[in-house]
Amino acid sequence: MSKRNYTFWFCVGSQDLYGEDCLRRVAEHAQAMVKEINAAGDLPFPLVFKPVLISAAHIHQTFVDAAADRDCAGIITWMHTFSPAKSWIAGLKANRKPLMHLHTQFNEEIPYDDIDMDFMNENQSAHGGREYGHMVTRMGLARKVVAGHWQNPQVRQRLASWMRTAVGIVESSSLRVLRVSDNMRNVAVTEGDKVEAQLKFGWEVDAWPVNELAQAVDAVSQADTEALVDEYYETYDLILDGRSKDEFRRHVAVQAQIELGFERFLVEKDYHAIVTHFDDLGALKQLPGLAIQRLMMKGYGFGAEGDWKTAAMVRLMKLMTSDIKGAKGTSMLEDYTYNLVPGKEGILQAHMLEICPSLAQGKPAIRCQPLSMGSREDPARLVFTSKTGPGTAVSLIDLGHRFRLIIQAVNCTKVEKPMPKLPVATVLWTPEPDFYTGVEAWILAGGAHHTAFSYDLTVEQMVDWAEHMGIEALVIDQHTSIRSLKQDLMLGQAYYR
Ligand code: MN
Repeated sequence: MSKRNYTFWFCVGSQDLYGEDCLRRVAEHAQAMVKEINAAGDLPFPLVFKPVLISAAHIHQTFVDAAADRDCAGIITWMHTFSPAKSWIAGLKANRKPLMHLHTQFNEEIPYDDIDMDFMNENQSAHGGREYGHMVTRMGLARKVVAGHWQNPQVRQRLASWMRTAVGIVESSSLRVLRVSDNMRNVAVTEGDKVEAQLKFGWEVDAWPVNELAQAVDAVSQADTEALVDEYYETYDLILDGRSKDEFRRHVAVQAQIELGFERFLVEKDYHAIVTHFDDLGALKQLPGLAIQRLMMKGYGFGAEGDWKTAAMVRLMKLMTSDIKGAKGTSMLEDYTYNLVPGKEGILQAHMLEICPSLAQGKPAIRCQPLSMGSREDPARLVFTSKTGPGTAVSLIDLGHRFRLIIQAVNCTKVEKPMPKLPVATVLWTPEPDFYTGVEAWILAGGAHHTAFSYDLTVEQMVDWAEHMGIEALVIDQHTSIRSLKQDLMLGQAYYR
């Protein structure tokens, strides 16, 4: 999905006050840590040891070099000894990468029998970390702070999780969204300021006439199309709903041709996310359903009805989770209908067609069914029910003068009964902290009906992403009450205006 083999620079701060021997040991410790952490195998990307930083000039040069290295996705700083923080000002001012302060020390336990003043001077991150942290706070820079012993698996897990956030941050600056036609008429929440989004997030959002894509679809050969249909037939179940086999296959082939045509267009023009609109299909024979589901599965972002913000977030969240083995899935979703039976409350998530099959529990099936909206032939789509468990749904909204990212923790559950007449993929979830508070909070926050959802990302990761982008992150999770949410909204209104 991403073309880069990302690395993270491990930069250790010290000073020359304690002599050469001490600095040599600092470097040895840092190298041993990098080696062991990398060898543990639970980080998605390698740490790269950098020579110990002791002077302002060297620190500045290191940040400048990192900025120029397109594979460097972040800088992890650690103060082994006391590193006077004025030495970090020029470097931190030049920083362009996601920044972490790993607040750790080499030894886990105080060496009670042997500890002396030399040991304390050499191992004083409790002291040095505060000097450095003070400066980053004074400069008002976004950074992640993780405290704990570096051999603790939980610390490594937090490192891993932040690395994925950092990838979402660096990839954001080169994200390109292809928008087929414009916004659905009269719809507010899918709109937004694309210029401001490019300034804030780095996203390039371009509109293309639908018929230029239709031409790319038309150019796909029948042989290529039929080969992809064969692949579909090997991968998915088929539900014919009484159609003849030949007619069914003809419908499916339309989607295969769209998938290939769209993908070639996206690759040629270097776009990473796509937005379609059911009301503007030009010469396309069907609303792209199965085709879009397959493209999402391959890592493309998607938003419907002109929703470029959701398309971009889906793409980023797919990048942030692309290294996870056994990932449960990431997709665009839409809040559709409620179950309000007491004790069984939930929100049925679906869309007209376009839910990523990465969410599927079991093998998806292809169906061809009419749409109640749109004016083309019955589109083929994948239907399935989804995995259960916790997940995170986000909605990026444009408030007119700024963006807000609403981040909602949800719990996905099994749909109580089959829904044989509903020919779309679904997810059922209950928001945190409980259905009613979660739904009321979402409405008060101004959240959209479209979301970007992942089973594999946490609220913390999305909050860190938003913080780095300099936008408000509004969290709805197990700690939320309506009173606390209203205070968060007021604070955000004052702080980000
Ligand atoms: Mn929609």
